[in-house]
Amino acid sequence: MSHHKVLTLWNGDQLNEEETRILRTPCSETPVPFNAETKRAIRTLAEAFLERDDAVGLAAPQIGIGKRIIAFRTRNFDEKDPAARKEDYEILVNPRITQKRGEPIIGEEGCLSCPEIRVEISRHPEIKVRACDPEGKKVSKRYLDFAARVVQHELDHLDGKLIVDYDGSVFIPKKRQNFFEKFFQDK
Ligand SMILES: [Zn+2]
Repeated sequence: MSHHKVLTLWNGDQLNEEETRILRTPCSETPVPFNAETKRAIRTLAEAFLERDDAVGLAAPQIGIGKRIIAFRTRNFDEKDPAARKEDYEILVNPRITQKRGEPIIGEEGCLSCPEIRVEISRHPEIKVRACDPEGKKVSKRYLDFAARVVQHELDHLDGKLIVDYDGSVFIPKKRQNFFEKFFQDK
């Protein structure tokens, strides 16, 4: 059972105004060295991430924390064994993309905050990122292919950007055509 609620733009046919406002608010950088509040936020995000087996990434604003912190998996994406999953993720604080390389590649993305749909989004296949690790040490990282896509998706969250903001094709469940047609028309 999940203990941390993930905020969503909608629930069924209902638009979540307050949750949308939070998800849409750009997050602020966290001071380094980390204070107690930041350390707590890092722990909370890690817990929230680890209790989901349907997420490859989670950004702090998705659980209502307005800080630039992301958690994500970079390999073994299909690992279901909870023990193995525990080891296999990264947390970055104040991440910043310093380089994007390669021809953008289109891929389908889903998001816990935009339930039921998938959107085709063009992302760079290679990125370099500067950030702090969970202890506050400066790190330089390079991500490729699907991992690069995941990190770019999570970084968007920190600026209040979501998959529904991209112009690519949207995949909606047939039964929900009416709701989503209206949603994308009004947005
Ligand atoms: Zn997302």
